[in-house]
Amino acid sequence: MSEYVRKETQLPKPIKSHIYQLDIELTERCNNNCIHCCINLPENDDISFHKEMTTDQIKEYLLQAASLGCMAVRFTGGEPLLRNDFEEIYIFTRKLGMKVLIFTNARLITKSFTELLVKIPPMIPIEITVYGMHQSSYEAITRSPGSFNQFWRGVDLLLEHKIPFIVKSAILPSNKKELIEFETWAKTLPGNNSNPGYAMFFDLRNRRDDETKNSLIKKLRITPDEGMEILSRDKENYLHTMKQFSQKFIGPVGDQLFACGAGQSLCIDAYGRFQPCMGLRDPELVHKLGTTLADSLVKFKQLKEIRATNPEYLSRCAHCFIKGLCEQCPAKSWAEYGTLDTPVEYLCEIAHTQAYYLGLLSSGEKGWLINPEEFQERIDRVVNG
Ligand code: SF4
Ligand code: SF4
Repeated sequence: MSEYVRKETQLPKPIKSHIYQLDIELTERCNNNCIHCCINLPENDDISFHKEMTTDQIKEYLLQAASLGCMAVRFTGGEPLLRNDFEEIYIFTRKLGMKVLIFTNARLITKSFTELLVKIPPMIPIEITVYGMHQSSYEAITRSPGSFNQFWRGVDLLLEHKIPFIVKSAILPSNKKELIEFETWAKTLPGNNSNPGYAMFFDLRNRRDDETKNSLIKKLRITPDEGMEILSRDKENYLHTMKQFSQKFIGPVGDQLFACGAGQSLCIDAYGRFQPCMGLRDPELVHKLGTTLADSLVKFKQLKEIRATNPEYLSRCAHCFIKGLCEQCPAKSWAEYGTLDTPVEYLCEIAHTQAYYLGLLSSGEKGWLINPEEFQERIDRVVNG
């Protein structure tokens, strides 16, 4: 058995708290400066660089994660490959027997790194965001001259070395017309069998740190109708997926604020602070460096007890029949308004547009005004219709 596979007997016992996956944001810095980005700081941001976790701190958290039964670690950023110690961290993680998922823009993938990936496979396909199929569309988004050629070089190296990866994209003005070209290319890549995923309903800056950038992001957001057109391009598949989804997830969740998976897994930001999910940066809910993963897991489990208090949330989201379709959550609310329980109007419109399309609501109806006795009847109508 390879040294990168953890035997069951190696797991410490008893395990009081488990985590299946750990997310580590290795840096907020990025070599791109994407127009829609909710997180990036400049590559040469000295203040951020000096605050980032040291290699030893990251290794310590990885050890803790392994002892909690963690099976997979996702390294994200910014651009995680900007860190000079990335390869050391990667090897350390794999030696602990944990699989690795890398989110990257592929610009810093080198021959020696691909050779390392051949020798020690990550066991999960790398995820690469593709900002455009041509230099002009790509660099209109990344605002980094030369980034397009570097991205292609990275992709070519992965292909040459047969390293599994999947591609995804963000729908923005300069690349909107290239969707078919992108998808046609994506289908030629080994392992990319289904249509790629897209980011299009962009988050505002997670740290609420840049009002100018937020105004730009708001302007770049696709309209709910445009989004619906894209989501339902493969109508049959979309309806099939959404019918199954509706059966399981449609219905109100009441005043429980964290009805999501927050607290079941863990995220660590670039500076060693624990977050219940990657998007949730509210300082009140972030644990400072020094707390253990196990302690944070216990504390984050208590999130399930937090109740919404905003009257607007209580009169709308708490009763909302289509909450399952809506991306409104404490993280999005905090990024938009600085509170955990404010309905996010943009997401509200998107959810309603989907509900009208599916027939869960008639045009103009509001999800929070539907009589609870009607919920099941409406779901059945959509599922069996
Ligand atoms: S590559 Fe990703 S992290 Fe970097 S600026 Fe673009 S969206 Fe942000
Ligand atoms: S659709 Fe609107 S009311 Fe319903 S949960 Fe989302 S934000 Fe709240």
